[in-house]
Amino acid sequence: AVSPIETDALIVGAGPVGLFQAFQLGLLEISCHIVDALPAAGGQCVALYGDKPIYDIPGTPVTSGRDLAQSLLQQVAPFKPQFHFGEQVSTLAREADGRLLLTTSAGKSFLAKTVFIAAGVGAFVPKRIAVEGIAQFEGSSLFYHPDSLDRFAGQTVVVNGGDDIALETAIALTAIAKQVTLVHRRDGFQAEEATVSAMRALVAASKMAFQVGQPTAFDGKQLQITTPDATTLELPLDALVACLGISPRLGPIADWGLELERKQVPVDTEKYETRERGVFAVGDINTYPGKKKLIVCGFHEATLAAWGATAIVFPGKAVPLQYTTTSTRLHELLGVA
Ligand code: FAD
Repeated sequence: AVSPIETDALIVGAGPVGLFQAFQLGLLEISCHIVDALPAAGGQCVALYGDKPIYDIPGTPVTSGRDLAQSLLQQVAPFKPQFHFGEQVSTLAREADGRLLLTTSAGKSFLAKTVFIAAGVGAFVPKRIAVEGIAQFEGSSLFYHPDSLDRFAGQTVVVNGGDDIALETAIALTAIAKQVTLVHRRDGFQAEEATVSAMRALVAASKMAFQVGQPTAFDGKQLQITTPDATTLELPLDALVACLGISPRLGPIADWGLELERKQVPVDTEKYETRERGVFAVGDINTYPGKKKLIVCGFHEATLAAWGATAIVFPGKAVPLQYTTTSTRLHELLGVA
């Protein structure tokens, strides 16, 4: 096995609060790695409301979910946090030396002095097709929300789904793949009218096939679907691309021994530390008396959690409070000296 990445801090989640956590740790000279299940930073702000305006970020009268994520990335850049996208943190365990060992779905592991769970409402992961035994084909002939379609060049591809992303994926594939079939459970779509029209035009021109049905079996080479009139059809394919939406899963965090209360991690309000020493929880994932799921509250929590970590990362050292306005040391760290 590859040896674990050793770090002062590991942040689970690159939503707004995880990003600001990295910034606050940076000011305190604590370096970190950040893991997120999504392919990019921003959490709910990008995944759920990228283009919508936000009006309650202090000092920022209006921004959008995506722009807020960009600003946070820009702010934290001087500290060079190391991002690991497209991976879910799956396990967390205490080592004999007191450090925390975490492993990811991509087979990476981290040995961290401190852990910051900024996991929001859970990891944003693609909804899976509910067919027994289908998981074994993931990455070989089954792909959920693929980042790039290049690999499907010249292939026979079946796309499963009925939203904008599913339709856009099927449409884009008609220019790349040999043959494209869209499969959706009904002849109606949760998508923009223009996208639906474009898809129907391609079907009418025989550039794409459309089949109503639900997947019922898959062997890596053939997808079996059942149509509304209970007929079964076998669709031979090279690749099955599923775009069934992305939804948050609390998933593994429930197994980390943190005594969840209604799917939230209880913390104190001095350091936002969980019942496990060195494991902090910030943002939407935590709970305490008076908790409000707001970005500004997560920013405050992240600030105090970073201070809480200094006792573990720099034992016995008194860390003074410094202002970014006037501290030459902070200017050096921020690269503005
Ligand atoms: P999230 O944004 O949920 O990010 C958590 C990240 O952690 C995700 O990217 C997820 O993939 C990742 N993750 C979770 N588990 C794992 C794991 N095991 N491994 C790897 N990665 C993992 N708040 C405001 O203050 N003002 C507003 O105007 C506002 N408007 C909103 C509008 C909408 C429609 C919604 C849905 C929310 C709104 N909110 C608003 C709430 C705000 O978006 C959340 O409070 C904020 O996103 C919480 O940030 P977070 O970093 O704690 O979590």
